[in-house]
Amino acid sequence: MNLYQAVIIGGGPAGMMGAITLGNHSVKTIILDENESIGGQLVKQTHKFFGDHAHYASTRGFEIAQKLDEEIVKNENIEVENDATVIGIYPNNTVVYIKDGQEHKIQAKKILIATGAMEKQLPFINSDLPGVYGAGAVQTLMNEYGIMPGKRFLIIGSGNIGLILAYQLIQAGVEVRAIVEALGKVGGYEVHANKVKRLGVPILLNHTIVRAIGDESVEGAVIAKIDDKFQTIPGTEREMVVDTIAISVGLTPLTELAEQAGCKVEFIPELGGYVPIRDERMRTTNPDVFIAGDLSSIEEATTAMIEGKIAALEMARDINGSDTKEEIEEELRTLALFRSGPKSVKIRSGLEKMGIKISIPTKPIINEKKEDVIGKLRAVLECDEEIPCNSCEASCPFGAIHIGENLNSTPVLDAEKCTGCGTCVNACPGLAIFMMKENEEESTVTLGIPYELLPLSEKGQKMWGLSKEGNYVCDVTVERVIKYPNKTNIVYAKLPIEFKDTVRHFAFPKKESPIVCRCEEVSLEQIEKVIDSGVTDFEEIKRLTRVTMGPCGGKNCKLVVLGILSRKTGVPISKLSHGTSRPPVKPVEFSVFKKGGDER
Ligand code: SF4
Ligand code: SF4
Repeated sequence: MNLYQAVIIGGGPAGMMGAITLGNHSVKTIILDENESIGGQLVKQTHKFFGDHAHYASTRGFEIAQKLDEEIVKNENIEVENDATVIGIYPNNTVVYIKDGQEHKIQAKKILIATGAMEKQLPFINSDLPGVYGAGAVQTLMNEYGIMPGKRFLIIGSGNIGLILAYQLIQAGVEVRAIVEALGKVGGYEVHANKVKRLGVPILLNHTIVRAIGDESVEGAVIAKIDDKFQTIPGTEREMVVDTIAISVGLTPLTELAEQAGCKVEFIPELGGYVPIRDERMRTTNPDVFIAGDLSSIEEATTAMIEGKIAALEMARDINGSDTKEEIEEELRTLALFRSGPKSVKIRSGLEKMGIKISIPTKPIINEKKEDVIGKLRAVLECDEEIPCNSCEASCPFGAIHIGENLNSTPVLDAEKCTGCGTCVNACPGLAIFMMKENEEESTVTLGIPYELLPLSEKGQKMWGLSKEGNYVCDVTVERVIKYPNKTNIVYAKLPIEFKDTVRHFAFPKKESPIVCRCEEVSLEQIEKVIDSGVTDFEEIKRLTRVTMGPCGGKNCKLVVLGILSRKTGVPISKLSHGTSRPPVKPVEFSVFKKGGDER
């Protein structure tokens, strides 16, 4: 039987980083991975990663896998066995795996299990119909095999995976009808949510899927609102025409091999379900067995890589007495920093149940916004959530972005220092940075947005300016397009100055006229027709079309209507009458008025 110093089961981010670290400390290591190539979940991730530059921030997931793979190939201490399915761990650290239809046995001084996690299921009526997929399966088909399983998607779950999947599907040219989320808030990063919202994908909070519709395969879905006990509210059901439903309601660690190796396992929901008990340095209750990545807690690939490194450093100490104490302490500090933000509250409390306390190094700082410099091309940072990322600060060649020593702090721009180079727009993994310059003499603004879709627009092209929610706001004219090798391009377009804080995406005009007033379903074409017939008074346009007269009372569309009127008549918005505001300013049920009120 072959004897190795270290065996790593699973060649994802944690396993790869573990192998590189062991190899660098002269430990003879083998990675066993059941796929035809290593990389794990990284190979299907086309988005750029958050974090800091030391941990591949601003690099796309599949590119991180390539970089790690290159290091592994170069390292003569590391051997990789692909298509190797581990079926069991037996006494004396014996690992049994199947390859090419044959059973193989190896022994190791130390074992690192980095088997990751599997997707949680969601039971609903007809969930076994063809066309219902796990989000990971859709990513595998689309990004690894180039197969698109559907044309119209409904996504269940608004964690980072669901949000990223929605964005990737739109990049691939298919329609995402909605993301349904049972909780009252989005689960993933706000910047990921904003990316899909401005592409027109609604995120329906406090909703769930009731059933899939179809005989042979998915033809639609029924969704409904739910109450605070997660029960569907009768009468709120509605049908959606979709051909694919992607479930993204979380992951749960794959603990079987750890259990076979004699590691104690406990149910800690904050960490994803059943997890092996381990110490701060990733050693389980079996002193020869270590874990890392999603098997230890469901988190991001970045923390998985750091855990893989910590486990490997501790293993190297055991195996050949490497002096790794300082390196371990440095990695533990980094890991604590990554977990010190509000998005990691659950992870911190789960780890505490295991006796691992995360000491928060420095409190994140909500950086105070400095005064803006109007009329100069500069970056506009729209990233107000504390997430572990400082890519923008690291990318700016002029030191114009400040985050500080805690990478969970929010970024702030020093507009005086900003030269308008656009480097940070290209680097930001959240696509949360825009470029802006007011052209005062023309009452227009030039807005630059990060653009990762195809086809790319060209100078002089007319496009639609869409709001943060993906609604039509105004027509825009493309001024220039800056292409970048990493495919995060910047499209600059001119638009009316009134919409400088509203427009956050440019889209090619569609054949059908865009809806301006969603409450009353009034289209741009209807409004323009009324204006073309000679009606230029806002109140009259309201009466003739019912625009702004729905439940939102014009909060969403009034300025857009005034913008259309201004464009058609040449009268600036500031000179137009904007109508009368009448009570009630919020929708009220008639029964309230029927009851009468008291006068105080
Ligand atoms: S646009 Fe250039 S100078 Fe301005 S903040 Fe971004 S990277 Fe720095
Ligand atoms: S704005 Fe900065 S901190 Fe926020 S996601 Fe972009 S790069 Fe990261």
